[in-house]
Amino acid sequence: MTKRALHWFRDDLRLADNPALVCAAGTGATYCIYVLDDRAERRALGGATRWWLSHSLEALAAALERRGGRLDILCGDPAELLPAFAEAAAVDLITWNRRYDAASVDLDAALKERISGNGTAVRTFNGSLLNEPWEVTTRTGQPMKVFTPYWRAARERGEPEAPLPAPTRLEAPALPDSLGHRVRSLPELALRPTRPDWAGGLREAWTPGEDGATQNLVDFIEDGLGGYADGRDRPDRDSTSRLSPHLRFGEISPRQIWHALGTARKSGEAKGSAADAEKFLSELGWREFSYHLLFHNPDLATRNYDQRFDDFPWKHDGEALRRWQRGLTGVPLVDAGMRQLWTTGWMHNRVRMVAASFLIKHLLQDWRTGEAWFWDTLVDADPANNAASWQWVAGSGADAAPYFRIFNPVTQGEMHDPAGAYVRRWIPELAGLPDKNIHAPWKAPDDALKAAGIRIGETYPAPLVDIGFGRQRALDAFAMIRG
Ligand code: FAD
Repeated sequence: MTKRALHWFRDDLRLADNPALVCAAGTGATYCIYVLDDRAERRALGGATRWWLSHSLEALAAALERRGGRLDILCGDPAELLPAFAEAAAVDLITWNRRYDAASVDLDAALKERISGNGTAVRTFNGSLLNEPWEVTTRTGQPMKVFTPYWRAARERGEPEAPLPAPTRLEAPALPDSLGHRVRSLPELALRPTRPDWAGGLREAWTPGEDGATQNLVDFIEDGLGGYADGRDRPDRDSTSRLSPHLRFGEISPRQIWHALGTARKSGEAKGSAADAEKFLSELGWREFSYHLLFHNPDLATRNYDQRFDDFPWKHDGEALRRWQRGLTGVPLVDAGMRQLWTTGWMHNRVRMVAASFLIKHLLQDWRTGEAWFWDTLVDADPANNAASWQWVAGSGADAAPYFRIFNPVTQGEMHDPAGAYVRRWIPELAGLPDKNIHAPWKAPDDALKAAGIRIGETYPAPLVDIGFGRQRALDAFAMIRG
């Protein structure tokens, strides 16, 4: 009898460089399944990632069909569904690519035990990182706490292996009758918003799926890499790769990116310098480091890595939080970022740092409230990157920005958005201000405000907090826990 395999798609929604899929397809006819686990005990996906997932699954199903395969979508607890599916379909092998959040690690261990106990082989792979989180350690075998030595040690492990080609043909076995009622259609998952449909800006900004990811990478190598090392800090320019949501859902792998960059540089297709390429790879390194931190600190999204912050005197100000979320703090760079996030599901990295710092330091709101908002609204909301980055900005994380380094949102704007193009794009009500006033409209002379049709407090808010006062208040609060 020919063998049958089952590949369980998770955060690896692609066919190319998918080691677990290649293994399954090499075994025989392959069931390809995705399980939406909406149970309360897992951290539910946010609205923006649910939208992304629905489109990514659609693209994946079409790509599988083009090769003769089929995507079966189930809903519920994988710990029950997978063994039941494997038994009813009499598969010889189950494969998946590993995930590294605590719930997934526990689930994988339990599933492996249960499935292999029933006599079915299980094989799992690294499909999303350059290095497994446990492979890079200090000389004494301990987890790393500082990025620079982490990345140096990771680089010393050499080039990642070459990416695997996508399986050219897939064979989809028929579904056993007993499983038919378990399979769901995409609309049944209700992943897309309907009333209201707030996803217009997301549809305009993105093409979820493996083809969209590959195109983004090609465009970036051709047009974005040149000058990336400096340009990546400019929100007014289109100078980063925008690969983050594609990486989040595994529509592209870091080793595909790594090798595509290397090949393009060797052939002269990529315009960037060695420094640009190195800087870009080091950003992938921050992603690796975040996964390293998450794996070794499973509570990274909820617990201060630096426990001194457990006593931090956060203010719990619902109105301030709401105004930050809506982009109505009265501080243009922060508001522009929060509106870009709300409209497109993405925010430029420099502005993420400034907006997060403003919430935590100037408004003294607990970093977890910001992490939760980003989790709900970012299309790239990622269990490792989001948590590690929020703790980094808060100063409570590993290798974090020192608490006393408080971003000044006005000078940040003047430096990284010098002509105010980014602010004007997202805050049209400020568009008529001269460049020199755009980042601090409350200080603009009356005639400039009048000419631009702006009344502070009416057409655009006054700042929620005075920038200098907020900075001093944050330093005083930090002094209380410094110990
Ligand atoms: P590029 O500059 O093109 O970088 C390439 C890739 O490297 C990115 O796609 C991303 O996977 C990775 N990367 C870049 N910067 C970082 C970083 N600082 N930390 C970790 N990985 C990085 N990134 C997410 O992917 N998901 C999140 O939920 C997330 N939340 C964040 C929250 C805050 C408060 C901050 C300050 C940063 C957060 N980041 C997050 C990191 C970073 O802002 C985004 O990865 C980046 O803006 C994505 O844009 P890009 O793909 O064009 O990046």
